[in-house]
Amino acid sequence: MTYTFKEFFNDVVKKNNIKVLGHHFSMRKIDGLTLIDRKGQTSLSYEINNPSVRQNFTKCHELGHFLLGHQGSFFTEVTENQLSVEEVEANYFSACLLMPDIVLLSKIFYQKLTFQEVANSLLVSTEALSIRLIDFLRYLLSEEKEQIKNIVAHYQSGNSSKIISVFARYHDFIVQDYQSYEPSPKETAIYLLDQKSFITDDDVSELAKLEFRKMITSKTIGTWAYYDRGETIFYAWDKEKLTEKEAYQKARNKYYIN
Ligand SMILES: [Zn+2]
Repeated sequence: MTYTFKEFFNDVVKKNNIKVLGHHFSMRKIDGLTLIDRKGQTSLSYEINNPSVRQNFTKCHELGHFLLGHQGSFFTEVTENQLSVEEVEANYFSACLLMPDIVLLSKIFYQKLTFQEVANSLLVSTEALSIRLIDFLRYLLSEEKEQIKNIVAHYQSGNSSKIISVFARYHDFIVQDYQSYEPSPKETAIYLLDQKSFITDDDVSELAKLEFRKMITSKTIGTWAYYDRGETIFYAWDKEKLTEKEAYQKARNKYYIN
């Protein structure tokens, strides 16, 4: 698994036409800014002189303000203002996007990575990883905060036995929680069409069902079936990128390759 926040971040930025910019103010240190102008155009920016791990945290924090629908047209990140509910929410969103539960389980429990390796692979600071792990373990366990800080400090100093035993105990819970957010077939189809413009029932088996094809057919998505010698390939395509004929041709090619 090579998860980083970037795929989701770039996808949301692209779909919502958000401008992402670097900034630098010499008079005052502002880690990040989100601006929504009168036309509804959203821009977010981050201090380019900050370390890249800090920039990443800021970008995800700003995206949090956007996706959580926080009211207002202007958010400024300065150290003093990080205590309001919206700032705490945006920080929590950022930490979860950078370091999702299931990814922490994979890296710490399965891959047995060190604390530093986890931080490096997720492009976060050791401080951010430590805070995230403490929050996550506090959510899982009923132990005192001091004990939980201890487990994380142990891990940070190179001893992973305690944290691995926590993950072992809550393994099924974390996996089930993750699976409960599995995308619907429709969401999967739309996502894949965005990625590659043409999909078949090999990608999304529900395409073989008429009801499903009716449900996803729209101004921008076409669906059809290619028949030959008793075999059928059901397919869908992005109408903005392929013509009906090109899509048919792709289905036909697939038939002959199979
Ligand atoms: Zn903020």
